[in-house]
Amino acid sequence: MQNIITHKDFEYAFDINKCYECDGNCCIGESGYIWVNPKEIKDIAKFLDIEDQEFKNRFLRKVGYRFSLKEIKKNSSYECIFFNPIEKKCSIYSVRPNQCRTFPFWDYFKTNIKEVKKECPGII
Ligand code: SF4
Ligand code: SF4
Repeated sequence: MQNIITHKDFEYAFDINKCYECDGNCCIGESGYIWVNPKEIKDIAKFLDIEDQEFKNRFLRKVGYRFSLKEIKKNSSYECIFFNPIEKKCSIYSVRPNQCRTFPFWDYFKTNIKEVKKECPGII
């Protein structure tokens, strides 16, 4: 059964069911930033049952005045520190950052549709 999401500002739609067949392409690949805001930092730390400062030390990197989730380098690829490579899914799914929740409807992809189609098999 298809579970299609559309967005008025985008030419493409997204079939959520494809996430069950995909190996988590949006959490691995090229290095990039996975931004987290102060509320998300608190929410994820709470989910992990650790103090905010411990969470920052272990899982975040500071970029200018902002924070991004760390990545792990695997051969020539990178994966988010919260990607579970065995189950091929996010280990903090219920508290994942807004950046992850809004994929694949990112402004950048409005004019780079080929790129998002290449990355995400759920694009239709
Ligand atoms: S790349 Fe697309 S299909 Fe794959 S997990 Fe991410 S959102 Fe789902
Ligand atoms: S937080 Fe979860 S959904 Fe977001 S990039 Fe990391 S593993 Fe993927």
